[in-house]
Amino acid sequence: MRYLILSDIHANLTALEAALAAAKGRWDKAVCLGDLVGYGPDPNEVVNRVRELDAVTIRGNHDKAVTGLTDPEEFNPVAHNAVLWTRAQLDPGNRDYLQNLPMGPLQVDAFSIVHGSVHDEDEYIFAPELALPGLIDAPSSVVFFGHTHIQGGFTKKRDDLAALHPKPSGENKFSTVSIEPNTTYLLNPGSIGQPRDADPRAAFAISDLENKSVEFWRIPYDIQTVQERMSRAGLPEALILRLAFGR
Ligand code: ZN
Repeated sequence: MRYLILSDIHANLTALEAALAAAKGRWDKAVCLGDLVGYGPDPNEVVNRVRELDAVTIRGNHDKAVTGLTDPEEFNPVAHNAVLWTRAQLDPGNRDYLQNLPMGPLQVDAFSIVHGSVHDEDEYIFAPELALPGLIDAPSSVVFFGHTHIQGGFTKKRDDLAALHPKPSGENKFSTVSIEPNTTYLLNPGSIGQPRDADPRAAFAISDLENKSVEFWRIPYDIQTVQERMSRAGLPEALILRLAFGR
């Protein structure tokens, strides 16, 4: 089985469609690590698309905030503003769908998925020392996580901790990481709709553990049309600008 691993789509339908077009015919089952909405201009369209894909999906912090499971007051003012806008847009059916998404960790075949970390769905894993507790307690040798919007991840082989930076460059659409024995992997496919690793292209992964490989993809999309929809929606300027920088 080849799994399409999506995360942090953040209501950016143009980026999602570009990723799906690039990955067409290369996967059997889709998985989504949460944050379908928040920040971007297309919350209903993205939720409808993910539901259509029949993706195995867990909730992210934005999915919780827009449905009232958590208080958006804890968000920074710009994210808070986007949560309130998103809340007003969501169809009741899509709101219910988001509200009922399960929390990670969730086992999917030979790997597991979390939004933030193995121990806390809202935790940000930015560095190897933060990844260590999750690598030690990992429910499977490969765990996919999101939340940081940074493609890559962390590995542990006996006492060796390492960071992975598999970003494809040049003409390559993806770069492949080989899955080795006796090694635990926390892997982040990156963010579809709001990358924050200084590369504005949509990020995702395709996992093929039977063949011991995970592909990390980057695909350009029409950022300007998304920015125009955000302007028309009255979403905060800071959110509109950051898409072009991937920050
Ligand atoms: Zn996110």
